[in-house]
Amino acid sequence: MPELPEVETVRRGLAPVMEGARFDAVEARRGDLRWPLPKDFAARLEGRTVTGLGRRAKYLLADLSSGDVLLMHLGMSGSFRVAQENGGTTSGETTPGAYYHDRSKAATHDHVVFHMSSGVRVSFNDPRRFGSMKLVPRAKLDEEPLLRALGPEPLGNAFDAAMLARACAGKKTSLKAALSDQRVVAGLGNIYVCEALHRSLLSPKRRASTLAMRSGAPHARAEQLVAAIKAVLHEAIKAGGSSLRDHKRTDGELGLFQHNFRVYDREGSACPTPGCGGTIRRIVQTGRSTFFCPVCQR
Ligand SMILES: [Zn+2]
Repeated sequence: MPELPEVETVRRGLAPVMEGARFDAVEARRGDLRWPLPKDFAARLEGRTVTGLGRRAKYLLADLSSGDVLLMHLGMSGSFRVAQENGGTTSGETTPGAYYHDRSKAATHDHVVFHMSSGVRVSFNDPRRFGSMKLVPRAKLDEEPLLRALGPEPLGNAFDAAMLARACAGKKTSLKAALSDQRVVAGLGNIYVCEALHRSLLSPKRRASTLAMRSGAPHARAEQLVAAIKAVLHEAIKAGGSSLRDHKRTDGELGLFQHNFRVYDREGSACPTPGCGGTIRRIVQTGRSTFFCPVCQR
Protein backbone atom coordinates (compact mmCIF):
# COMPACT_ATOMS: atom_id res chain seq x y z
CA MET A 1 0.00 0.00 0.00
CA PRO A 2 1.58 3.31 -0.98
CA GLU A 3 2.11 5.61 1.95
CA LEU A 4 1.40 9.34 2.07
CA PRO A 5 4.93 10.42 1.02
CA GLU A 6 4.72 8.13 -2.00
CA VAL A 7 1.40 9.65 -3.06
CA GLU A 8 2.86 13.11 -2.63
CA THR A 9 5.82 12.22 -4.87
CA VAL A 10 3.35 10.97 -7.48
CA ARG A 11 1.45 14.25 -7.23
CA ARG A 12 4.64 16.21 -7.72
CA GLY A 13 5.51 14.08 -10.74
CA LEU A 14 2.10 14.48 -12.38
CA ALA A 15 1.52 18.16 -11.63
CA PRO A 16 3.89 19.52 -14.32
CA VAL A 17 2.21 17.52 -17.11
CA MET A 18 -1.40 17.78 -15.91
CA GLU A 19 -1.83 21.23 -14.39
CA GLY A 20 -2.98 23.70 -17.01
CA ALA A 21 -3.46 20.89 -19.53
CA ARG A 22 -6.76 19.74 -21.07
CA PHE A 23 -8.01 16.17 -21.34
CA ASP A 24 -8.07 15.78 -25.14
CA ALA A 25 -9.24 12.17 -24.94
CA VAL A 26 -9.87 9.74 -22.11
CA GLU A 27 -9.92 5.97 -22.42
CA ALA A 28 -11.70 4.01 -19.70
CA ARG A 29 -10.68 0.53 -20.79
CA ARG A 30 -12.82 -1.16 -18.24
CA GLY A 31 -15.92 -0.06 -16.38
CA ASP A 32 -14.58 -0.63 -12.92
CA LEU A 33 -11.54 -0.36 -10.69
CA ARG A 34 -12.27 -0.93 -7.04
CA TRP A 35 -15.67 0.58 -7.74
CA PRO A 36 -17.43 1.20 -11.06
CA LEU A 37 -16.29 4.32 -12.89
CA PRO A 38 -19.09 6.83 -13.50
CA LYS A 39 -20.89 6.00 -16.77
CA ASP A 40 -20.14 9.46 -18.15
CA PHE A 41 -16.54 9.37 -16.86
CA ALA A 42 -14.78 10.18 -20.15
CA ALA A 43 -17.40 12.74 -21.19
CA ARG A 44 -17.04 14.66 -17.93
CA LEU A 45 -13.26 14.85 -18.41
CA GLU A 46 -12.79 15.41 -22.13
CA GLY A 47 -12.36 19.04 -23.05
CA ARG A 48 -11.83 20.06 -19.41
CA THR A 49 -8.66 21.63 -18.10
CA VAL A 50 -6.92 20.59 -14.90
CA THR A 51 -6.73 23.79 -12.88
CA GLY A 52 -4.79 22.23 -10.00
CA LEU A 53 -3.56 18.88 -8.74
CA GLY A 54 -3.76 18.52 -4.96
CA ARG A 55 -3.69 15.76 -2.39
CA ARG A 56 -5.81 14.89 0.66
CA ALA A 57 -4.42 12.00 2.73
CA LYS A 58 -3.73 9.35 0.07
CA TYR A 59 -6.12 10.78 -2.52
CA LEU A 60 -5.01 12.84 -5.49
CA LEU A 61 -7.51 15.58 -6.33
CA ALA A 62 -7.53 17.08 -9.80
CA ASP A 63 -9.61 20.25 -9.95
CA LEU A 64 -11.29 20.61 -13.33
CA SER A 65 -12.46 23.68 -15.22
CA SER A 66 -15.99 22.19 -15.15
CA GLY A 67 -16.18 22.49 -11.34
CA ASP A 68 -15.77 18.75 -10.87
CA VAL A 69 -12.92 17.23 -8.89
CA LEU A 70 -11.36 13.98 -10.08
CA LEU A 71 -10.49 11.88 -7.01
CA MET A 72 -7.83 9.24 -7.63
CA HIS A 73 -6.50 6.60 -5.23
CA LEU A 74 -3.63 4.24 -6.03
CA GLY A 75 -5.04 1.35 -3.97
CA MET A 76 -2.52 -1.45 -3.41
CA SER A 77 -0.77 -1.71 -6.73
CA GLY A 78 -1.72 1.36 -8.76
CA SER A 79 0.74 3.64 -10.51
CA PHE A 80 0.79 6.29 -13.21
CA ARG A 81 3.10 6.32 -16.20
CA VAL A 82 3.78 9.41 -18.26
CA ALA A 83 4.94 9.29 -21.87
CA GLN A 84 5.37 11.85 -24.65
CA GLU A 85 2.94 11.28 -27.53
CA ASN A 86 4.09 12.04 -31.05
CA GLY A 87 1.43 11.15 -33.58
CA GLY A 88 0.58 7.63 -32.47
CA THR A 89 3.96 6.73 -30.97
CA THR A 90 5.18 7.44 -27.47
CA SER A 91 8.61 8.07 -26.02
CA GLY A 92 10.44 8.95 -22.83
CA GLU A 93 8.14 7.01 -20.53
CA THR A 94 8.53 7.66 -16.79
CA THR A 95 6.77 6.53 -13.62
CA PRO A 96 6.44 9.57 -11.35
CA GLY A 97 7.06 8.85 -7.70
CA ALA A 98 9.63 6.40 -6.39
CA TYR A 99 7.88 3.20 -5.44
CA TYR A 100 9.33 0.77 -2.99
CA HIS A 101 7.86 -2.11 -4.96
CA ASP A 102 8.41 -2.36 -8.68
CA ARG A 103 5.26 -1.30 -10.48
CA SER A 104 3.61 -3.16 -13.32
CA LYS A 105 4.10 -1.74 -16.79
CA ALA A 106 1.97 -4.38 -18.52
CA ALA A 107 -0.41 -2.68 -20.97
CA THR A 108 -3.18 -5.13 -20.03
CA HIS A 109 -3.32 -3.39 -16.64
CA ASP A 110 -3.49 0.14 -18.09
CA HIS A 111 -7.13 0.65 -17.16
CA VAL A 112 -7.47 4.39 -17.63
CA VAL A 113 -5.49 6.48 -20.11
CA PHE A 114 -5.50 10.28 -20.29
CA HIS A 115 -4.33 11.96 -23.49
CA MET A 116 -3.42 15.48 -22.35
CA SER A 117 -3.10 18.65 -24.39
CA SER A 118 0.43 18.98 -22.95
CA GLY A 119 1.38 16.24 -25.41
CA VAL A 120 1.66 13.51 -22.83
CA ARG A 121 -0.19 10.31 -22.22
CA VAL A 122 -0.87 9.50 -18.56
CA SER A 123 -1.72 5.83 -18.00
CA PHE A 124 -3.15 4.46 -14.78
CA ASN A 125 -1.93 0.90 -14.30
CA ASP A 126 -3.40 -1.26 -11.54
CA PRO A 127 -3.05 -5.06 -11.67
CA ARG A 128 -4.99 -5.69 -8.47
CA ARG A 129 -7.60 -3.00 -9.08
CA PHE A 130 -7.90 -1.68 -5.54
CA GLY A 131 -7.35 1.80 -6.93
CA SER A 132 -10.26 4.11 -7.61
CA MET A 133 -11.36 7.15 -9.57
CA LYS A 134 -14.42 9.21 -8.85
CA LEU A 135 -15.84 12.55 -9.99
CA VAL A 136 -17.29 14.82 -7.34
CA PRO A 137 -18.55 18.40 -7.78
CA ARG A 138 -16.13 20.74 -5.94
CA ALA A 139 -19.09 22.25 -4.05
CA LYS A 140 -19.93 18.82 -2.62
CA LEU A 141 -16.40 17.80 -1.67
CA ASP A 142 -17.02 18.52 2.03
CA GLU A 143 -19.81 15.93 2.00
CA GLU A 144 -17.78 13.31 0.14
CA PRO A 145 -17.89 10.10 2.24
CA LEU A 146 -14.32 9.11 1.26
CA LEU A 147 -12.93 12.36 2.66
CA ARG A 148 -15.43 13.57 5.23
CA ALA A 149 -14.15 11.56 8.20
CA LEU A 150 -10.48 12.39 7.67
CA GLY A 151 -8.62 14.34 10.33
CA PRO A 152 -6.09 17.06 9.56
CA GLU A 153 -3.24 16.63 7.11
CA PRO A 154 -0.10 15.82 9.09
CA LEU A 155 1.93 18.35 7.09
CA GLY A 156 -0.73 21.07 7.27
CA ASN A 157 -0.68 23.98 9.69
CA ALA A 158 -3.86 22.77 11.41
CA PHE A 159 -1.98 19.74 12.71
CA ASP A 160 -0.11 20.95 15.77
CA ALA A 161 0.50 19.88 19.37
CA ALA A 162 -2.63 21.60 20.68
CA MET A 163 -4.78 19.87 18.07
CA LEU A 164 -3.20 16.45 18.67
CA ALA A 165 -3.50 16.80 22.46
CA ARG A 166 -7.18 17.71 22.05
CA ALA A 167 -7.79 14.69 19.84
CA CYS A 168 -6.04 12.36 22.31
CA ALA A 169 -7.29 13.81 25.61
CA GLY A 170 -9.11 11.14 27.58
CA LYS A 171 -8.27 8.40 25.05
CA LYS A 172 -7.49 5.10 26.73
CA THR A 173 -6.07 3.62 23.53
CA SER A 174 -2.34 3.41 22.82
CA LEU A 175 -0.43 6.15 21.03
CA LYS A 176 0.11 3.73 18.16
CA ALA A 177 -3.65 3.17 17.80
CA ALA A 178 -4.45 6.88 18.12
CA LEU A 179 -1.95 7.90 15.44
CA SER A 180 -3.24 5.15 13.14
CA ASP A 181 -6.77 6.54 13.44
CA GLN A 182 -7.57 8.54 10.28
CA ARG A 183 -9.87 10.82 12.28
CA VAL A 184 -6.97 11.93 14.49
CA VAL A 185 -4.51 12.53 11.65
CA ALA A 186 -5.03 11.62 8.00
CA GLY A 187 -2.99 9.12 6.04
CA LEU A 188 -0.01 8.69 8.34
CA GLY A 189 0.32 4.93 7.84
CA ASN A 190 2.00 2.19 9.84
CA ILE A 191 5.59 2.85 8.77
CA TYR A 192 5.60 6.53 9.63
CA VAL A 193 3.74 6.05 12.91
CA CYS A 194 6.51 3.66 14.02
CA GLU A 195 9.26 5.97 12.79
CA ALA A 196 7.79 9.11 14.37
CA LEU A 197 7.27 7.42 17.74
CA HIS A 198 10.86 6.23 17.78
CA ARG A 199 12.19 9.61 16.82
CA SER A 200 10.23 11.28 19.59
CA LEU A 201 11.33 8.55 22.08
CA LEU A 202 7.70 7.74 22.92
CA SER A 203 6.51 4.18 23.46
CA PRO A 204 3.83 2.97 21.04
CA LYS A 205 2.16 1.38 24.08
CA ARG A 206 1.87 4.66 26.00
CA ARG A 207 -1.68 5.89 26.61
CA ALA A 208 -2.72 8.44 24.03
CA SER A 209 -4.25 10.61 26.76
CA THR A 210 -0.76 11.39 28.13
CA LEU A 211 -0.22 13.81 25.23
CA ALA A 212 -2.51 16.21 27.07
CA MET A 213 -2.06 17.72 30.52
CA ARG A 214 -4.93 17.73 32.96
CA SER A 215 -5.89 21.20 31.78
CA GLY A 216 -6.15 19.85 28.24
CA ALA A 217 -3.10 21.83 27.13
CA PRO A 218 -0.51 19.88 25.13
CA HIS A 219 2.26 18.15 27.06
CA ALA A 220 5.80 18.73 25.80
CA ARG A 221 5.74 15.20 24.38
CA ALA A 222 2.92 16.23 22.03
CA GLU A 223 5.21 18.95 20.66
CA GLN A 224 8.02 16.42 20.19
CA LEU A 225 5.71 13.97 18.49
CA VAL A 226 4.23 16.49 16.05
CA ALA A 227 7.72 17.70 15.14
CA ALA A 228 8.85 14.09 14.60
CA ILE A 229 5.82 13.27 12.40
CA LYS A 230 6.44 16.29 10.17
CA ALA A 231 10.17 15.56 10.01
CA VAL A 232 9.83 11.89 8.99
CA LEU A 233 7.25 12.75 6.33
CA HIS A 234 9.31 15.61 4.90
CA GLU A 235 12.38 13.40 4.74
CA ALA A 236 10.42 10.60 3.11
CA ILE A 237 8.99 12.90 0.44
CA LYS A 238 12.46 14.25 -0.19
CA ALA A 239 13.85 10.75 -0.53
CA GLY A 240 11.11 9.81 -2.96
CA GLY A 241 8.49 8.02 -0.89
CA SER A 242 8.38 4.40 0.06
CA SER A 243 6.30 1.48 1.06
CA LEU A 244 6.67 -2.00 2.37
CA ARG A 245 9.48 -4.37 2.66
CA ASP A 246 12.93 -4.93 1.45
CA HIS A 247 12.77 -5.09 -2.24
CA LYS A 248 15.63 -4.66 -4.61
CA ARG A 249 15.26 -1.91 -7.12
CA THR A 250 15.88 -2.69 -10.75
CA ASP A 251 19.42 -1.36 -10.44
CA GLY A 252 20.06 -3.81 -7.56
CA GLU A 253 20.23 -1.10 -4.92
CA LEU A 254 18.05 -1.53 -1.90
CA GLY A 255 15.03 0.78 -1.98
CA LEU A 256 15.92 4.31 -1.00
CA PHE A 257 13.94 3.90 2.08
CA GLN A 258 15.36 0.84 3.65
CA HIS A 259 18.34 2.91 4.68
CA ASN A 260 16.20 5.59 6.21
CA PHE A 261 13.97 3.45 8.40
CA ARG A 262 15.25 3.53 11.94
CA VAL A 263 12.89 0.91 13.37
CA TYR A 264 10.40 -0.23 10.73
CA ASP A 265 11.13 -3.81 9.64
CA ARG A 266 14.32 -3.82 11.72
CA GLU A 267 13.42 -6.31 14.42
CA GLY A 268 16.57 -7.52 16.20
CA SER A 269 18.74 -4.62 14.98
CA ALA A 270 20.58 -2.28 17.32
CA CYS A 271 18.58 0.82 18.20
CA PRO A 272 20.00 3.80 16.29
CA THR A 273 19.38 6.26 19.14
CA PRO A 274 22.86 7.40 20.21
CA GLY A 275 23.95 5.76 23.48
CA CYS A 276 20.77 3.66 23.79
CA GLY A 277 22.13 0.14 23.32
CA GLY A 278 18.62 -1.33 23.00
CA THR A 279 17.37 -3.79 20.38
CA ILE A 280 14.42 -3.13 18.08
CA ARG A 281 11.41 -5.30 18.87
CA ARG A 282 8.28 -6.15 16.94
CA ILE A 283 4.90 -6.43 18.60
CA VAL A 284 1.39 -6.54 17.15
CA GLN A 285 -1.03 -3.75 17.99
CA THR A 286 -4.53 -3.53 16.54
CA GLY A 287 -3.58 -6.20 14.01
CA ARG A 288 -0.51 -4.39 12.65
CA SER A 289 3.20 -4.80 13.33
CA THR A 290 4.77 -2.19 15.55
CA PHE A 291 8.56 -1.81 15.59
CA PHE A 292 10.07 0.04 18.53
CA CYS A 293 12.90 0.18 21.05
CA PRO A 294 11.76 -0.80 24.54
CA VAL A 295 14.80 0.94 26.08
CA CYS A 296 14.65 4.53 24.83
CA GLN A 297 10.96 4.78 23.88
CA ARG A 298 9.03 5.55 27.04
ZN1 LIG B 1 16.61 2.79 21.81
